Amino acid sequence: MRTIVNVWFAGRFTKIDEGLLSWVKVLLLQQKKIMSQESTNIQVSDWLHIKEQPFVISGPCSAESEEQVMVTARELRKIEQVKIFRAGIWKPRTRPGEFEGIGIQGLKWLQKVKAETGLLITTEVANPTHIEQALKHGIDILWIGARTVVNPFSVQELSDALRGVDIPVMIKNPLTPDLKLWIGAIERFYSAGITQVAAIHRGFHYFNRSPYRNAPMWEIPIELKRLIPSLPIITDISHICGRRDLLLEIAQKALDLETNGLMIESHIHPDKALTDAAQQLSPGALAEMLSRLVIRKYTGSIEFEHHLEKLRSEIDKLDVELIQLLAKRMEVIEEIGDYKKENNITILQLKRWQHIIEDRLAIGTSLGLDPAFLLSMLELVHEASIQRQTQIFNRGDY
Ligand code: PEP
Ligand code: MN
Repeated sequence: MRTIVNVWFAGRFTKIDEGLLSWVKVLLLQQKKIMSQESTNIQVSDWLHIKEQPFVISGPCSAESEEQVMVTARELRKIEQVKIFRAGIWKPRTRPGEFEGIGIQGLKWLQKVKAETGLLITTEVANPTHIEQALKHGIDILWIGARTVVNPFSVQELSDALRGVDIPVMIKNPLTPDLKLWIGAIERFYSAGITQVAAIHRGFHYFNRSPYRNAPMWEIPIELKRLIPSLPIITDISHICGRRDLLLEIAQKALDLETNGLMIESHIHPDKALTDAAQQLSPGALAEMLSRLVIRKYTGSIEFEHHLEKLRSEIDKLDVELIQLLAKRMEVIEEIGDYKKENNITILQLKRWQHIIEDRLAIGTSLGLDPAFLLSMLELVHEASIQRQTQIFNRGDY
């Protein structure tokens, strides 16, 4: 059973799950600490509070060669919005034997990027050895990947390894749509004394098929923002989309929901990329895409937008469920068709149809649905069912 408690948080009383209480306490302590601290590295800490939009983190999914990294970085440097250069050095791959990252030598290329272009540099770390190496090579910002965030043991190990090192850490959402797990990871870093934490929304594995590689489920980052208003959230549109033709639409949506920044993978030869080829953009295409984004002056209330988005997400899910139910119904209709055919029974049985109408209308109207609407819908479904059974009867298998 969930226990909801009322706490004074972010300037007002907020209802939260009791399970989050300890985390809120830690957060408040951290915020106090942040406010009383003078940052020693303005350049790095500033990115968390950057006002101009869109603020972009870009670079290849994976560092592959010194030339690929350097040429990409030089091109990206020319794009005003790109402030941080990303590249994966250790790549979590589904199967062994695939390209698993270039390893430590890639860190030296990142150092070179920083020295030559002045861009801040970031890479993914998944174990304490990665952290040790990243720190040794002057990486400015660390990020924790979606596959790591699902495992609290790993997250604890990583945050322990950072105790006493207040480097900015970006925490991707876990693969599964589990906000508590995401918050749990954030909490572990706060507890280890990391004050510059950001979240990266990269979409979620979800059983429904959608055009996206990872369903955005915007309501989750929105809820995260509601619970921790001071936490910057960056949208990794590349891993949400999985395909470059969807990037613009998702980037626009992220901006309209007031994301703090975008993470976008970029490669000098996207089609030849060793990882995530379909979703990467050349630096030129990235600049073009960014120029097409509409930066809206925010006039409405963000609370209104967030609530609307939450409701829309609910509708999206309900529609998918509705469609899945219709498909399931049709499967049963097919089974009935086969059975009637085997037993030489006619397709249309008026008595049954009459019963369906009366029964469903009674249920629907008791739930407040308009009978005329319900009747047209039932007729449509019935017509499609008869058509399907007719196809079965006309199939020449008897
Ligand atoms: C990446 O950013 O290249 C990556 C592996 O991302 P994720 O952890 O979100 O899958
Ligand atoms: Mn990638």
